Formats: sequence, structure tokens, C-alpha cells
Amino acid sequence: MGDETETSGSFGDLDELYQEVILDHYRSPRNKKTLEAPDITVDGLNPYCGDEVSIQASLVDDRVVDIGISGLGCSISQASLSMMSELLKNKSLSDFQRLVSLFKRFLEGTDLSDCETSELGGLEALSGLHKYPIRIKCALLGWTTMEEGILDYRSDNAAK
Ligand code: ZN
Repeated sequence: MGDETETSGSFGDLDELYQEVILDHYRSPRNKKTLEAPDITVDGLNPYCGDEVSIQASLVDDRVVDIGISGLGCSISQASLSMMSELLKNKSLSDFQRLVSLFKRFLEGTDLSDCETSELGGLEALSGLHKYPIRIKCALLGWTTMEEGILDYRSDNAAK
């Protein structure tokens, strides 16, 4: 695939199928719950759009065994958070770091290999966002928030 240089239109031009996926996650977020004793608890805010996310994760040996999310805001931010929560389950924290950098490259419009794209699962629905830089902050909010949570978790554990 080469560079697609679509110049026309607004956000409403996102592929219909993709819009369906995003709206589905927005309306029925996956893993929306509160965990009883999470190892990671972290909140994030995107001031550009007013999006808010809260993430909790329970870990066993650096692997995410359970995740709970909640949030408020635009459909992109909440759908991306929900999709991230699905991807994160049973992943190690270093798997997550790899996925974050993959997702960032994807959002920037970098062509990924088929294998890399399939790792992102439903997030493919967010392709085309690179044309809307302000929306990239929405899509990344859950991810950068989780990154912060992991950093805190690691520095807390290193201090003990
Ligand atoms: Zn937003």
C-alpha cells in the first residue's frame, strides 16, 4: 500500500464500518468495572477535548490479569480506551510497551506490516486519524495514561 492522499472531507468521512466499531465500543465499553485491589490505578485527562479516563489493572508477575476502565469524553477517546483494555488482558507490561509504540506509529500514518496490523486488532478502525492531529490525542489518552500508571508502579516497586 502506498500513501493515500485523501484530502477531502471531515471526520465524518471515516469508513462506515470503522465508525460502527468505534460507536460500538463507545456505547458498550469493554471491561468497564472497578477492581477490588488493583496494582495500578491511574487517571488521565486530555485538556484539548475534555476527555477523562480511569484505568485499574491487576498484575501477576508483570502480566495484566484483570483490567477495569471508566471514562467520559468523545467517542474516539472512549473507544480507544475500551479497545486497549481488551488488548491488554493477559499481556505483559513489556508487550504493552511494544503495542503502544506500534499504535503511535499507526496513528502517525506509518504503513505497518500485516502482522503488526493484526496485533492491533479492532484499533484498525482508527486508521485515517492521522489526518486529524487533534484527534490523535484523544485516541492516545488511554494509552499514555496506562504508560504513566506503569511507570508509577515500577518506581513504587523499585523503592521497596
Ligand atoms: Zn476527545
